[in-house]
Amino acid sequence: MPMPDFKTYDDSNIFAMILRGEIPNKTVYEDDHALAFHDINPQAPVHVLVIPKGKYISMVDFTAKASDAEIAGFFRAVGKTAEILDLPDPGYRLLVNHGPHSHQEVPHLHVHIFGGKHVGPLLMRGWEGKIKMPNMD
Ligand code: AMP
Repeated sequence: MPMPDFKTYDDSNIFAMILRGEIPNKTVYEDDHALAFHDINPQAPVHVLVIPKGKYISMVDFTAKASDAEIAGFFRAVGKTAEILDLPDPGYRLLVNHGPHSHQEVPHLHVHIFGGKHVGPLLMRGWEGKIKMPNMD
């Protein structure tokens, strides 16, 4: 998949379409600030994405431009979603990709919530070069 342009918000990105109701999603939680829905290609027994309702490309864009109410509301929605999914005990992982080096594919901020099993070590082993990584430069 080609990497998006992270400089200007793209209204045609897939999460913008979900927010406009143009394509379906399996909603877990929704409020004024956020929408949480199941990832279409789950990488764990529970894999849910939480997105802000505003047009923010990434975490950098969001923390620079969103209001305090949007930021507080969004992170409260992340916590609320994990609770709805019954994840706080025994635990879960949050992950946010930012930009090409992280392999962010959708240019609308999203927090991944992974749970439902022991999700393993933090990063893929072999980053030092022992495992061939795709060239994303
Ligand atoms: P990232 O690589 O951090 O940008 O993650 C994008 C995520 O969006 C991936 O885990 C995809 O499986 C997920 N995704 C893409 N399209 C959809 C969709 N229509 N509904 C739910 N999840 C999606």
